Order: sequence, then structure tokens, then C-alpha cells
Amino acid sequence: MQPRPAFNIDKKANSMDFRALQVDNGDSGYRADIKTLPISVLGEGGVLVKIAYSSLNYKDALAVTGKGKIIRQFPLIPGIDFAGEVLESDSVAFVPGQQVILTGWGVGERVNGGLAEYARVKPEWLVPLPAGLDVHQAMAVGTAGLTAMLCVMALEQHGVAPDSGEVLVSGASGGVGSIALALLANLGYRVVAVSGKPELTPWLIELGASSVLLRESIAAAARPLESEQYSGAIDTCGSSVLAGLLPRIRYGGCVAACGLAAGFDLNTTVMPFILRGVSLAGVDSVMCPLPRRNEAWQRIARDLPLSLLARLSRDVDLARVEEECQRMAAGGARGRVVVRMEA
Ligand code: NDP
Repeated sequence: MQPRPAFNIDKKANSMDFRALQVDNGDSGYRADIKTLPISVLGEGGVLVKIAYSSLNYKDALAVTGKGKIIRQFPLIPGIDFAGEVLESDSVAFVPGQQVILTGWGVGERVNGGLAEYARVKPEWLVPLPAGLDVHQAMAVGTAGLTAMLCVMALEQHGVAPDSGEVLVSGASGGVGSIALALLANLGYRVVAVSGKPELTPWLIELGASSVLLRESIAAAARPLESEQYSGAIDTCGSSVLAGLLPRIRYGGCVAACGLAAGFDLNTTVMPFILRGVSLAGVDSVMCPLPRRNEAWQRIARDLPLSLLARLSRDVDLARVEEECQRMAAGGARGRVVVRMEA
């Protein structure tokens, strides 16, 4: 087979139109509309990707509904992640036909994002699709799943092992939480899900939880130190939930904190840190350096039971995105939502 050229300016691609969700904040207020746009709005250079799938994350919900200040310039195509095929590339690192994943780097916040048929991004932002995953599975995982994996890696680095004791996952019904449950359980951890949705208990157990705690029981005002119950935790909620987890972590344990679904405040004491040597590990997926991203995607392909993706994700098309985002922004997530771009 002839090697494909690394540099392929496709004249047809440069003159075409494409479908995208575009958010504007003008005279008619904050709006998200499906539009047909000229490809020139994506600028020039870098890597042009034909998007097969995007996904909905908490940040997308805030961006599409306007409930959070996510989008930094208007109009903008939201969507903080996507997976698809390289169409044009000015980098030798990516060749036309190659399948790639993008998450983070301000895409869908400062530059046009993934809720569109095409995106043009910097080559250094892309990750080659790891062996063992297809583009649909990659977006069923998406930013949420990458973040869950980074949290698991943070716990491992702080010595929290499957035989250390039970691990908590808060916001368990959400995208990060549900994939964290599946990953940890598959790695042999005993996982306790913390959720505000008791009706989802059978589903959370199916994903890997050994038991489910009501969010209020953790978030209720905790003493500076409670009994040492858990070796670690992945917290997607922040605020009173994170404050409620910390006093319950065993000596030498760790909490990987990645989210703020309950709020960005943290009213707590230093007692777990100074008397029990508990670590609070911050986890960010947006600017996460490429080697760690690549490692996390390799680990996802290896450590996530891919058969569970069908149980924790569902597909929608672009027309359903706004409605799904309203539900997510109101705390109603259940697993992951994949946005299908191809008809
Ligand atoms: P989802 O919307 O999929 O899930 C959020 C979950 O949080 C909900 O399902 C619910 O779970 C819980 N929740 C919702 N509202 C509240 C509330 N008021 N108080 C407490 N818990 C609530 O979001 P994601 O999983 O995509 O993201 C979760 C968090 O992680 C978000 O804050 C997001 O910004 C952050 N995040 C951070 C990243 C990073 O790089 N640091 C990357 C990706 C996400 P339940 O009902 O089961 O309790």
C-alpha cells in the first residue's frame, strides 16, 4: 500500500460547509443553534479532523445552557472532546486517514470544539486512537473517562491499592463517577458509590459498586476526624461532599479531587492531613501533559471492561444535545452521552 502523504491540502475540503452547534450571546440572549457553517470558520493549518463522535461532559452542559462561564468568545462551537479521522495535516505526526482523540486544551471553550462535523486543532493536542478502542468507544469514555483514569492513577501513585481497603467514588451516577466505578472494580478494588440517586443502586452495583451510600450521609457536617473507613476516594463533587470524605479516610490514604458538581468551595480542617497523613491529589485533564494522557488512554484500553460501555452510555444526535445538557446541568446525569456526527 502507498504511504499517505503527511501534508494534504484538500481543495474540496477547503470549500465545503459543515453542520455544527454554535453558541452565541448577542442581542437575542444566550443561544445554542444548529447551523451550517463554511469550513473557513475553523481557520487554517494544524490538523483538520472529520469528527465521528463527540460526547457530553458537565462542562459542555454548562457551556450549552449558559449556566457556567465556560465559553470565552462568541460565537463558538462547544464540545470539549471528539474522536474522528484526520483529513488534512500540516504535521508529520498525523497523517490523513489516522484515527485520533482530542480532549481538553480549551477546545470548546476558547477555540471551536467537537459538537460539529469537523474541527481544526493543533497537532500537539491530539492523541492517536489507542489499539483496542474504536472511535465510538473512545467517546463513550471521553473527557470524563480520561479524568476517571487519571484519578485512579493518582490513587495508585499515593499507594492506594486494591488490598488497602474500600474506596469511595462520589457523583457516582455521572460520567466521571460511573467510569471510575467500572475501572476500580475491574482493577480489584472494593468500591463504595456515593450518589444522590438511590433509585440507580442496581445499575451502580452492575457497574462495579459493592455498596451505595446516599450523598447526604457523607455531605452532612462531619467532625474534623471521623472513624477511618476508606483507603481513598475519587471526588467529583467538591464542597460539602469533599469536606465529608476527608475525615473518613484512613491513615496514609488519598482523595483524588477532580470536580465541583456540588460547588467549588471547600470548608474543612487540616486534621486529616496532619494527623493521618491523608493526601489530597488534584486531578486536571484539560492541560494534562501528553505523555500522561497517552499513558492514561493506554490504561483505559487495557483496564476498562469495554463491554460495560454499552451499559453506561447512550447515543444522541446533534438535535438532542441542548435537551441533554439541560438535564446534566440540573444534576440529572446517568453515565455518558455520546453525540453521533455521522448521519
Ligand atoms: P456529570 O454531569 O456526568 O455527573 C455529575 C454527577 O455529580 C451527577 O450525576 C450527580 O451524581 C452529582 N451531582 C450533580 N449535582 C450535584 C450537586 N448539586 N451536589 C452534589 N453532587 C451533584 O458530570 P461529569 O461526571 O462529566 O463531571 C463531574 C465533575 O467533574 C464536574 O464538576 C466536572 O466539571 C468535573 N470534571 C473535571 C475534570 C478535570 O479535568 N478536573 C474533567 C471532567 C469533569 P449523583 O446523583 O450520583 O450524586
